[in-house]
Amino acid sequence: MHIRDMLAEAERTCEPSFSFEYFPPKTAQGVQNLYERMERMYNFGPKFIDITWGAGGRVAELTCEMVVQAQAYLGLEACMHLTCTDMGVDKVNDALRKAYKAGCTNILALRGDPPRDKEKWEAADDGFRYARDLVLHIRKTYGDHFDIGVAGYPEGCDDNKDEDLLLDHLKEKVDAGATFIVTQMFYDVDNFLRWVKRVREHGITVPIVPGIMPIATYASFLRRANHMKCKIPQEWMDKLEPVKNDDVAVREIGKTLVADMCRKILAAGIRHLHFYTMNLAQATRMVLEELDWLPSPDRPLKQPLPWKQSLGFG
Ligand code: FAD
Repeated sequence: MHIRDMLAEAERTCEPSFSFEYFPPKTAQGVQNLYERMERMYNFGPKFIDITWGAGGRVAELTCEMVVQAQAYLGLEACMHLTCTDMGVDKVNDALRKAYKAGCTNILALRGDPPRDKEKWEAADDGFRYARDLVLHIRKTYGDHFDIGVAGYPEGCDDNKDEDLLLDHLKEKVDAGATFIVTQMFYDVDNFLRWVKRVREHGITVPIVPGIMPIATYASFLRRANHMKCKIPQEWMDKLEPVKNDDVAVREIGKTLVADMCRKILAAGIRHLHFYTMNLAQATRMVLEELDWLPSPDRPLKQPLPWKQSLGFG
């Protein structure tokens, strides 16, 4: 199913929905552990999951493998991230073919981060320069088979802080054929809502999916926020800093802060949230619990795991 249809359904029914993002682990054991966790987290009721794209070699292959695993064996609707970093057109086509064969119908088209050993991003010899070019290529090659999402930056991105220019480039990606936008993580919800208004003023009408980063520990919270250069409201620091050495207290306070942020977003009319799980279940589960969004006897999971159903456990 296309993500745009899932988002339209959430809009129509006014029922909140959510999705999870995972990244390919470095070791074979890590991959196995993640599959088990993905299966457990299926029971939280995500509408779809994203698998991020790591630049080059084995990590890139793993993204494709994980998409196959999610689609074919876990019965999860997967959105495959695909970037232009170190990707000539043949490699792009190969990845798209694998996604197509796995039954995947959703791609998040990105330019990509620079590889670890390079500071500046450079296009591959016969590759694409901007996410917009990748969107155009996917549309030209596959028509409407893939639903295509693109990235949005409520607080600017590393190589561009000019909001007007970024909005012009976002519009180009949508005009090229993208049908939804997923944002970078943020904690300043007022700024996010201001940015959404500006996106709409720019004539961009496709759904915006906010990227939510739950809080697992104080150190990881600060590290990620600093890495993304995202603003932390003073109130959050005032509440989290005094308990920074107590992970349990940080998670408890963090879940309330993040859930309050989610409620504010929903109150503004946005129905779908995308959780950056960082491949862990606990912090995301705590936020969903706080929001009362986890399946319950009164609100059962709509589709139990397909293999459990076929064995009569569903
Ligand atoms: P683009 O939209 O192509 O923009 C890149 C830069 O080029 C910007 O500065 C933009 O302003 C500029 N630009 C765009 N069009 C033009 C134009 N026509 N003329 C001049 N300048 C232009 N990275 C990964 O490696 N793997 C992932 O899986 C991944 N997933 C992500 C998911 C989300 C939701 C987000 C928000 C980011 C993700 N990233 C990922 C990071 C992303 O690849 C980087 O932020 C990257 O630096 C920019 O990607 P983009 O798709 O936004 O690029």
